[in-house]
Parts: sequence; structure tokens; C-alpha cells
Amino acid sequence: MALSIPFANTYAHLPERLFARLAPTPVSAPRLLQLNLPLAEALGLDPAALASLDGVAMLAGNLVPPGADPIAQAYAGHQFGHFNPQLGDGRAILLGEVIAHDGQPRDLQLKGSGPTPWSRGGDGRAAIGPVLREYLISEAMHALGIPTTRSLAAVASGDEVFREVPVWGAVLTRVASSHLRVGTFQYFAARRDTEALATLVDYALARHYPGAEGAAGLLAAVVARQAALVARWMLVGFIHGVMNTDNCAISGETIDYGPCAFMDAYDPNTVFSSIDRAGRYRYGHQPRIVQWNLARLAEALLPLLSDDEDQAVSQAQDILAGFADHFQAAWRTGLNAKLGLHTVRDGDEALVQEFLQAMTEAKADFTLSFRHLAAAAGGDATALRDQFLGTAALDAWLPRWHARLAAEPMPERQQAMLHTNPAVIPRNHLVEEALAAAAERDDLKPFEALLAVLRSPFAPPADPRYALPAADGMPGYQTFCGT
Ligand code: AMP
Ligand code: MG
Repeated sequence: MALSIPFANTYAHLPERLFARLAPTPVSAPRLLQLNLPLAEALGLDPAALASLDGVAMLAGNLVPPGADPIAQAYAGHQFGHFNPQLGDGRAILLGEVIAHDGQPRDLQLKGSGPTPWSRGGDGRAAIGPVLREYLISEAMHALGIPTTRSLAAVASGDEVFREVPVWGAVLTRVASSHLRVGTFQYFAARRDTEALATLVDYALARHYPGAEGAAGLLAAVVARQAALVARWMLVGFIHGVMNTDNCAISGETIDYGPCAFMDAYDPNTVFSSIDRAGRYRYGHQPRIVQWNLARLAEALLPLLSDDEDQAVSQAQDILAGFADHFQAAWRTGLNAKLGLHTVRDGDEALVQEFLQAMTEAKADFTLSFRHLAAAAGGDATALRDQFLGTAALDAWLPRWHARLAAEPMPERQQAMLHTNPAVIPRNHLVEEALAAAAERDDLKPFEALLAVLRSPFAPPADPRYALPAADGMPGYQTFCGT
């Protein structure tokens, strides 16, 4: 099957200082671990061609397909609050953009494809475990309806990579609306390269926000998208784990699945990442961090906002001030929808807060508590009460919630709630089980079974095990960056 991909290469046509032109470094023995058929089709790519010898060679970085113009992109970023002027794609290569069936361009990027000028001593590689983790969780996020980069393929490299111990390497093909980050703008701002900044603004507007104008228009649009995005994360208990400004996408997609994980028992202070010792990126802190990241974007754009510095700053502040409203609107309507309500009325915030407070006291499972509200709305609160055993918090809350439901009649309420509150999320113990089987025993069955369930998160799984947290609650569970 011939491999013919109509690459657009729009980024590679920008000025040379925005990237480094180089090909991926070949691996020893490419072997397809996973190919995303629905995504291939959405991208207009032939799955059979991708699975062919040439296709797998391309997905491994061993063959640069005709028409591709591979590059590594320059970017900077604040990592845990500290600015690094020089990050860049240290282990990723953008092959080019393809036009998907929706008419929009998507980046095809190989991650783990070998060293680049930005590798800073790293090996440029990725290990099977983290590659499959990104594949699984990004696809789960997509199925939950949350904007995200996606995963087209995972290919084992046949090479060992050395982390704490030797592990097998892999290459992920990441698909993104673009890989522009807050850090992309910071890179050129730090170099006082206003011309490159202006080029990037035009590029970002054309690609993501054709209705917006200028740096101010871009900033406002990104503020709105990122506020909506973080609200969506919060509504499903997602903890990104490493919200550095280089991992904050201009498109408003979730990007960079390293130490991310879903919260089981509700606790706003939940942190999983082993390196996030101060809890900077804990669940409940995420909106503030997104806002902080957006302030860094605003700073980078200052020279384009106005020639008058004071004016530029006050314009930036006005736009950033819009974040709170965007976030609150998305968060409050989202939470109300989870409670079975279409409108947001006075007093609803207290109702929501009390439910969350009760969950905290009871260490109730976030996903299941909301999921079981649908049955409770229909009069059967048994499963819901099971989440709150040993506390009386729900007793006062339930009648108030029922009264609020009664004030807003909705014929299909339970159905709507079951499509808002997922039955399944990627449960940490199941993710670990699936990754261990794949990485240690070359057994992809648990991974594929879990992926299949996660593709329909609002349907009750045939095997109820997929809907449940680990029996012991996994105390002390930690995730790792996987670099
Ligand atoms: P991340 O933590 O994935 O956001 O990566 C932060 C920075 O480290 C980026 O510039 C990456 O390209 C770089 N990086 C991460 N892992 C590696 C690696 N194995 N080799 C080279 N660079 C890496
Ligand atoms: Mg990153």
C-alpha cells in the first residue's frame, strides 16, 4: 500500500529561527504497538498504508515520507515557576500538517524520535510505558469530549532507553491542532525578537482564531479557550500534573501527558506527580495556574499590544481579568449540569459547595458520586449513599437538591446526567496494570481492553471493575514525568 500523505508544512515555511530543520533518528526494529483507526480516518489517512512496512517505518522515524519537511520547534517555558529560555522539541519532530476531514490542519509529530539541538543532554527518546500512557489518557480525554492532542500510533523502537533502569523505547505519533505553546511566544519575547512574535501571532490567528485580530485578539481568545479547558478538566477530576508554560497550548487543547492522572476520592489538594513536591499543580490549584500561565503569554505579547508600555500593560490586565468570568461561567454551568440542572440560579453555588464538602468529608469517589446522582434524581439514592457511608453530610443536602430539581422540571434529566457524568475514567490502578502488561510482558490485551472501555465513558462498562477505584484507594500513588 503506497504511503501518500498530503503534507502542508506551513510551520516549516516560517522564518528559520523558529525551528531547526532535521529528520528523526532511525530506530533498530520498528514494530507497531497500536494504531488509531478512527483517528486515521478522521485525518483522511489510509490505515492500511500506515500499518504497511513503509507506514510503520514513517511512524518510527525511519522513513521521511515524500512531501514531509521535518523540523523541531523552538520554545521556552516556565517550569515550576522558573523561566528556562531554551527548551524546544528535545525529543520530538514535526513531520508536517495534514488537513483533516473537518477541513482543519493537524500537526503530525513524532515524540521520542531522537535527539535535536534542544535535547540538552537528553537522549531524545521515550519509553513504552509513558508513550502508551499518553496514548490511553489522551484518547480517554477525547472520548470525554475534552479538547486534547491525540495519539495516532505507538511504535516500539526495539532499542533500550536508560531511565532509572533500562526499558524499551517507543515513538508516539501525536496529533495536535498545532504545537504552539505559551512557551513558543516566550522564546522570542526573551530574545526581544518582536518580528518573530508578530509572525507567530499572525500564524496562530490564521490557524486557530480566524475571527480575532492582533495580539490583543489572540490573547483574549486564548484566555477564553484555556479558561474553558481547565474547567473541563476540573469537572472530570483530571490533574494535568505539569502545567508549565511550555505545556500550555495556544489552541486550547490539553497537551503533554506526563504525570497526569485522575482523582479518585475527592480532595482539592490531590497531587500525584512525584516531582510536584509543593503541590503547585494540585487539582484545586489548576485554574490559578492556567491564569498565571496566561499572564506569561500576555507579558510575551506586550511589545505587540502598544508602543506605550503602560498602555500595553493595562490592556493586558484588562484581558487577563476576563479569565475569572470565563472560568466561573464554564465551571458553574458545568457543575450544575452534573447536578442535573440546565440553569444557574442564586443559591446554586452553595448547593454545589455543600456537595463537594460532603464528598471531602466522606472521601467519596468524585466520579461515582456524580454518576450516582442520576439514579438519586429518579428516587434511588442507594448507590449514592454508599459513597457517603459514615457521614451524615448527605442527609441535609439531598432534600435541598431535590427541591432545587423540582424548581426546574426537565423531562430527560436522568439521561442528560448520564451523558454528563462519566461512568468510567482512566482509573490509576487499571492504567498501571495495562502499562505494566504492555511494557514488561509485551501483552497489549489489558491496554486494548481498557482503551475500548474508555472510548465510551458514558456507557456502564460490561465489566463493572472498570468503573471502580482501587479497593485500597492506592494511598501514596505517584506518577512520573516519564522523560
Ligand atoms: P516535558 O517535561 O515533556 O514538557 O519536557 C520538557 C523539556 O524537556 C522539553 O524541551 C523536552 O523536549 C525536553 N525533554 C524531555 N524528555 C527528553 C528526552 N528524553 N531527551 C531530550 N529532551 C527531552
Ligand atoms: Mg512539554
